[in-house]
Amino acid sequence: ERTCVVTGAASGIGAAVAESFRASGHTVIGVDVAGGDVHADLSRPDGRRFAVEQLTRRAAAVDVVVACAGLARPEPVTLSVNYFGVVDLLAGLLPLLRRGRSPRVVVVSSVAAVHRTLDSLVQACLDHDEEAALDLGRRAVEAGKGIGIYAASKQALARWVRRTASTEAWAGHGIALNAVGPGVVLTPMIAAEWASPAGREALSRQVPMPLTRGPIDVGQIVRTVRFLADPDNTAVTGQTVYVDGGADAQLRGDRQ
Ligand code: NAD
Repeated sequence: ERTCVVTGAASGIGAAVAESFRASGHTVIGVDVAGGDVHADLSRPDGRRFAVEQLTRRAAAVDVVVACAGLARPEPVTLSVNYFGVVDLLAGLLPLLRRGRSPRVVVVSSVAAVHRTLDSLVQACLDHDEEAALDLGRRAVEAGKGIGIYAASKQALARWVRRTASTEAWAGHGIALNAVGPGVVLTPMIAAEWASPAGREALSRQVPMPLTRGPIDVGQIVRTVRFLADPDNTAVTGQTVYVDGGADAQLRGDRQ
């Protein structure tokens, strides 16, 4: 039996991941601003600290963290949840992970990470300068480029995974750290846009789905998370595994 922390467990992908671990007999501690075992707002530094405190109180060790909490709003707060909310929470949970058995961490990026995006915003995230990132985010909104904020947050997260996974703090302690990059998955995040013909057309243009010819079943994301989080995964780390019906292959082609 493994102790699994799942953020964003109140809805969508996080809820499906939590349910899957529970159904296999594992202990799940859900973290979400919408409620759950640990009711915390990961957009705020004090909310992240509160979550770490609560989790440290509940568990002596953590074997799995799956970071699903996210926002797709074209606003600066999206950077705080999708990037800083993940990176800060994981930093706070490292001591618990080091006490875990075969510890594994999976974060949820997005195929949007391969879109060309606001490089200065990605850099501010990777520099771990939340004030600068929020300031650049506000300026992007003013310039009518708020739509790029989500892609920037997910690209920064995927690059952080790549930079971090092989370091002594993670690989040196046997902690595998990977990302999944979903394409379009019909969760509450996307449902309203998908419901209108114009929204569906726009999404299909941004995220081509040549294999599935439509949204990805949430179960496909869950099985990839379970593979990466399994103790048997002793070699895959630092990767983003796109579960996207072929969108990354089509959008990025040979470009690294
Ligand atoms: P969702 O809206 O159904 O679930 C997101 C969850 O995150 C919600 O329960 C919400 O309360 C929680 N959350 C939001 N802000 C928070 C905060 N400040 N603190 C704590 N929790 C917070 O969306 P989803 O589709 O399940 O998304 C899960 C992850 O998958 C997100 O990171 C999203 O960016 C990513 N993703 C989704 C899709 C898709 O098509 N649905 C595609 C690519 C990536």
